[in-house]
Amino acid sequence: MPEEYSKYLKSLNDRQMEAACGDISTPLMIVAGPGSGKTSTMVGRVLMLMHEGIDPSHILAMTFTTAAASEMRERVGAVAGKAAAKELTISTFHSFSLQLCRSHAEKLGRTAEFLIYGHGQQRRAVIEAVRILKDKKKMLNKESEMEVEVSGVSSPQHFKDKSKRWLKYVAKAKSAGRMPEDCHRMGDEIGAEILHCYDDILKSCNALDYHDLINCSLKLLAEFPTVFKECQESWKAIIIDEFQDTSPMQYSLLRMLASHKRITIVGDEDQSIFSFNGADVSGFDSFRKDFPMHKEIKLNKNYRSTRCIVEAASSLIQNNVKRCQSKDVLTDNSTGSKITIKECSNENAQCAYVVDKILEITSEGSSTKYNFGSIAVLYRRQVTGKIFQTSFRSRKIPFNTHGVAFYRKKVVRAVVAMLRTVLPACGDDPYRKVFKALLPFDKEEKKKVIEHIEKVLTVRKCSFISAATDIFSAKVSGSLKRSQLTQGRKVLSTLDMISKLVHREQSISAVITSVANMIPQKYLLEQRAVVDVDGGKLLNEDNDVRSVLHYLLDDVSDFLTSQTSPTQEKSDDKTEGLGCLSLLKAFIDYISEREKENFRSRRHDNENSVTLTTIHQSKGLEWDVVFIVKVNESEIPLLHDMSGVGTENGSSIEEERRLLYVAMTRARKKLFILYMLLDSSWQVLQPSRFIREIPRHLLENHNELSQNVPGDNQQFPRGKLPISDGPATTESAEAKMIPGDNHLCEVSKELSELMGACNSNGFLRRFNVEDRGTVSQ
Ligand code: ATP
Ligand code: MG
Repeated sequence: MPEEYSKYLKSLNDRQMEAACGDISTPLMIVAGPGSGKTSTMVGRVLMLMHEGIDPSHILAMTFTTAAASEMRERVGAVAGKAAAKELTISTFHSFSLQLCRSHAEKLGRTAEFLIYGHGQQRRAVIEAVRILKDKKKMLNKESEMEVEVSGVSSPQHFKDKSKRWLKYVAKAKSAGRMPEDCHRMGDEIGAEILHCYDDILKSCNALDYHDLINCSLKLLAEFPTVFKECQESWKAIIIDEFQDTSPMQYSLLRMLASHKRITIVGDEDQSIFSFNGADVSGFDSFRKDFPMHKEIKLNKNYRSTRCIVEAASSLIQNNVKRCQSKDVLTDNSTGSKITIKECSNENAQCAYVVDKILEITSEGSSTKYNFGSIAVLYRRQVTGKIFQTSFRSRKIPFNTHGVAFYRKKVVRAVVAMLRTVLPACGDDPYRKVFKALLPFDKEEKKKVIEHIEKVLTVRKCSFISAATDIFSAKVSGSLKRSQLTQGRKVLSTLDMISKLVHREQSISAVITSVANMIPQKYLLEQRAVVDVDGGKLLNEDNDVRSVLHYLLDDVSDFLTSQTSPTQEKSDDKTEGLGCLSLLKAFIDYISEREKENFRSRRHDNENSVTLTTIHQSKGLEWDVVFIVKVNESEIPLLHDMSGVGTENGSSIEEERRLLYVAMTRARKKLFILYMLLDSSWQVLQPSRFIREIPRHLLENHNELSQNVPGDNQQFPRGKLPISDGPATTESAEAKMIPGDNHLCEVSKELSELMGACNSNGFLRRFNVEDRGTVSQ
């Protein structure tokens, strides 16, 4: 065994070593609490697999976030070398399934360029399905249950309300892998018809939705022996981190992929935070049943956090009553400093506190000096992070958010270049980029055409666009083929359209959406390919046009806020007074600034910048100092109503508690928990009920708590409160809440952004500003 491997394995404790070095053909389950070295053990397992002769290119590791994937690759790379780490395939279920479905799209009745329908498209497809069925029933003049269901759906609003229910129905059925035939069998005729019709619509649009990706992968494996064989040959060993977040369908997929039994699952049910997305901890039991010869190893020593943090987090999670793997998490680490709970009057005060604290603990004079890179600010929803970004910028605190390479994405650059062309004296560069993006040729042919323009430009000493105009209006066509001339002319007319659009349109959002729509499918598909992340293969998940457009439109909103004085109401992105052109110019400058900033933070990345991220994205990661902000009711817990899962019930509250548990256990040394009293629209906020569940002796400033954090015998305004410091009673843990705001869960947005990898014109066209609203709210 290479020396580095054995050195690494020797650094593990006995149980970890036993897990990592056990027989690789024996299915392995590692269950343990946070910070107990699960991922470290997984890395050891990967080394062992390689040592036993399995080529790294045949090892498939599943994780749940791109950050976790990079982390994993880095950890393997540090021991086995970058080359070996590069060979590993680290993927999420959805990106893995997407790749599989694309490779065998024809078997699914699709072409390889199939679209992925997000929430907006799904909703439209459901509305369409209901409409079709309603018409069909009318034609048959058949009074049926269906008639009752869809009758009275005359007003568009009413129709939408009905369709919401059906959308939930479809999502639920699909996440359970239910086919129309199954509905028939269950006597659910209407459901069967809706599902059938919905599937037909998606098929006719060459589309799949997110649930389909998993279900279709399963179908491919189950019904096509060649695909099954191919997968068995490709993936000789499978490792899954954060197993608690797998849904039953994903688990079925795993079971099929792991028919060779070289499977390792690693997880912690207390960290299961994706149940709204179908994740189900029953996977552990299924694994036990399906792999009866498996070995199970429990780790119980926390290496990450101070005793104070471990104790606080354990006390919190003990309030969950639905726990099967109850475990004592111990640590040999020192007690460390107490947890700081901070009450802030509003969002600005909260941000100011965090900024001041960060500057204080990173200053030379601080008793314990931390690097920016060892600090994270965690929040429930992406939108909470915005104010920190602005404030960090102005106080010169370097920060990173996951996905920092956003402005360097080719698709973003293409959109920005297209916008730039309308600015006076924009130079040749944007035109060059636009031709590269818009010419629908392969790389070689594109290069030829662009080289030809450059040649003419040099000879004539003119601008790129003048040369292109002369060439494509056939004044100096030279050696170009007819098709090349035709396409070149099309690019010119697109540029013309953009210019007209900018002069006609009044809103930047509308201009950006239209401009993004002009990028040809071929180019978008090129960008969708597997990309290299940190030199390794990672199925690219956040390079899809939908998220690109979404973030760009988000930037518009930020930009407009930055243009508005504090006393002004932020209205819309109408360009009153300024004119679209000047506003656009200012927006492009704003974007360039962000790009530079992101580039800087990318270079420093974790090394010397504060991480701003959502709790869901923080899974598996760790920092010395963690600020969890906006720990308020209707934030944590935020009771959501996504795909009909987990509203108003105990399990939903338990999942919310787990979310805070995950956040708290990211901290190594110092934990801050902040809550606000007023939100930005002056609504009174309540501190999260969970704060009360942290034993007071572990809090630095518990005296301040008594007033606002609901305490003993205090009636909580939005539900019942746990009333003791210790574990809650069943009743309190399952406290019912009145339904929370009907938010679509932010996480689902992130997930779908992560998971999407489909770039196509058609997709974009269907994704308009209105959809963005529904996805992100
Ligand atoms: P999470 O549940 O949050 O994903 P985890 O169980 O995967 O946590 P790791 O991230 O693997 O935990 O490890 C947590 C920290 O403990 C890391 O900093 C790791 O280097 C350290 N660690 C793990 N095992 C040991 C060990 N045997 N000796 C010393 N440090 C260890
Ligand atoms: Mg881990």
